[in-house]
Amino acid sequence: MDNFDIKDYRIDNKETFKIKKANTKIKDFYGSKEEYEQMLIELQEEMDKYQSMMYAHNKNGVLVIFQAMDAAGKDGTMKAVFKNVHPLGLSFYSFKRPSENELNHDFMWRCFKELPERGKFQVFNRSYYEEVLVVKVHPEILTNVQKIPKNLTEDLDKVWKKRYKDIENFEEYLTNNGIKVIKFFLNVSKEEQSKRLIERIEDINKNWKFEEGDIKERDYWNNYMDAYEEMINETSTAKNPWYVLPADDKKNMRLLVAKIINENLKTLEMSYPEPDEARKKTLMGLIEVIKKQNLV
Ligand code: ATP
Ligand code: MG
Repeated sequence: MDNFDIKDYRIDNKETFKIKKANTKIKDFYGSKEEYEQMLIELQEEMDKYQSMMYAHNKNGVLVIFQAMDAAGKDGTMKAVFKNVHPLGLSFYSFKRPSENELNHDFMWRCFKELPERGKFQVFNRSYYEEVLVVKVHPEILTNVQKIPKNLTEDLDKVWKKRYKDIENFEEYLTNNGIKVIKFFLNVSKEEQSKRLIERIEDINKNWKFEEGDIKERDYWNNYMDAYEEMINETSTAKNPWYVLPADDKKNMRLLVAKIINENLKTLEMSYPEPDEARKKTLMGLIEVIKKQNLV
């Protein structure tokens, strides 16, 4: 991918991230649909190669997080990007509104249960970051729905600050345990979102995707943008940066997601386990055993 520089998308807090300045559209990396498909296949195959090695190495796990406004293309991106990864090494989990049972626990509880095993990819469609996004935009969720003691929710600013810190520590904990976190904010413009929502109404095959509630949430667009901006500034660290990707062109975004995952996998110190001399000898000896079994 010519002109690709991971630094253009990585928020590493050298300067304050301003969401208004973040691109929702950039020049495409591909010239034609055919070229896009070819580029994506190459990235998918590279990803599978890394995942196979990670599986054999069995030390690292990878957690990929997608956060975005509705209709930014999370689902399609997940489907396209991981197409070639061995299904046994890959799982997805979508975080919806917490259930009664989930509300009876701390907010990380439901995420903990879905963390990746060593050797595998886990992809989160939304995540614990909803706790500083939708909950921040609608703080009544915190005070009326979540069962947190009242004295802990009196100062809302403090609540968010503590959550950012808790999340940062949680991701640091994952890093210390060999789990690589790669987190994407798919940055779609309000105009592009409206086009996609209208399409979901006009195309009856897409009606099932349409939710009345999504329209109501559009009234809170600026609040969401403020929440994203603060979240990205507060939870981007050198080890666990956010990647903010222009999402108005889905193809371009998918290429970026795949490329950035591969670049991250490259940094993991992995190899196929090599047998030592004694083990090699044992294995060679077993060839004779297998052959003899055929003679019985
Ligand atoms: P789709 O593309 O299918 O619409 P989606 O991720 O938007 O996928 P939905 O079921 O439409 O899935 O929406 C999930 C909803 O759950 C979102 O509105 C999200 O903000 C909300 N949600 C997720 N986590 C929490 C949370 N911790 N507290 C409150 N609401 C949450
Ligand atoms: Mg939705």
